[in-house]
Amino acid sequence: MTNLQTIGVIGAGQMGNGIAHVSALAGYDVVMTDISEDALKHGMDAIEKNMARQVSREQFSVDEMKAAMGRIKTSTSIKAHENDDLVVEAATEKREVKEQIFRSICEIVPSRTYLATNTSSISITRLASTTDRPEKFIGMHFMNPVPLMKLMEVIRGLATSQATYETAIGFANRLEKTTTNAEDYPAFIVNRILVPMINEAVYTLYEGVGTVESIDTAMRLGANHPMGPLTLADFIGLDTCLSIMQVLHDGLADTKYRPCPLLVKYVEAGWVGRKVGKGFYDYSGDVPVPTR
Ligand code: NAD
Repeated sequence: MTNLQTIGVIGAGQMGNGIAHVSALAGYDVVMTDISEDALKHGMDAIEKNMARQVSREQFSVDEMKAAMGRIKTSTSIKAHENDDLVVEAATEKREVKEQIFRSICEIVPSRTYLATNTSSISITRLASTTDRPEKFIGMHFMNPVPLMKLMEVIRGLATSQATYETAIGFANRLEKTTTNAEDYPAFIVNRILVPMINEAVYTLYEGVGTVESIDTAMRLGANHPMGPLTLADFIGLDTCLSIMQVLHDGLADTKYRPCPLLVKYVEAGWVGRKVGKGFYDYSGDVPVPTR
């Protein structure tokens, strides 16, 4: 993994800023871009806050934090990626958005540059086919929050080369992540199992089987989950959960993956979870309160 020096991250949202955070701490130079200046500012604020928390827990020193922060550059121009060795795309979970990004990035980066996507569900092979280098393209599915979660799911597309796979594994090792391999089928492993469970939790709410709090308490204390499924949905982002259900529904053509109409309604309302302060819970006070 010695051949990577500069890591590009596209998208400064909750995942993108987490990937920039761990890459900079691992000693890489990082270029993080977003179409929104505001998102870049929020992203850098989040990195600073999250690193400061780690410093207060004595995971590393203030000097190491300063050095890592100093390694991150931001821009709203995709051209800023022109010297990257690896670009990790972590933009909004929409196929058209990602395809457009990969078409643009291929015109900018040199031929040595590896391309990765953090997509939760979209076909790696399909995204790779929009690039000029499908053999250098791979899925790197980080978990949220990136600095805390140990796993990176690695997904090879049909054309992904062994060298690209080994590069991804080396990168993950340097970030101190454990990898699992998943085949390139809709939503891979983690979300194939997790998101239909969340969707089912929304159905139990929709059908009036339980309230928001009773559903979350039932799964925390009854199934020993560290957080309830609706809290987790807010954490992931309801827009992302809905996109994943749509990919499962379209890709596997099985009605068991139909997105719950109530999940659709929350997304239509813009109540997409923690990142906007409101989802199944309202996060504006000291403790989260169910929104309905
Ligand atoms: P988010 O909404 O927090 O951030 C997405 C960012 O992408 C936004 O800042 C947006 O401005 C930016 N963006 C949109 N179009 C862009 C473009 N053309 N160029 C550059 N930036 C653009 O979303 P997120 O939760 O960080 O998710 C990002 C990706 O990571 C998605 O593919 C998602 O499926 C995946 N993912 C999410 C989670 C999770 O728990 N949220 C976990 C693993 C993977």
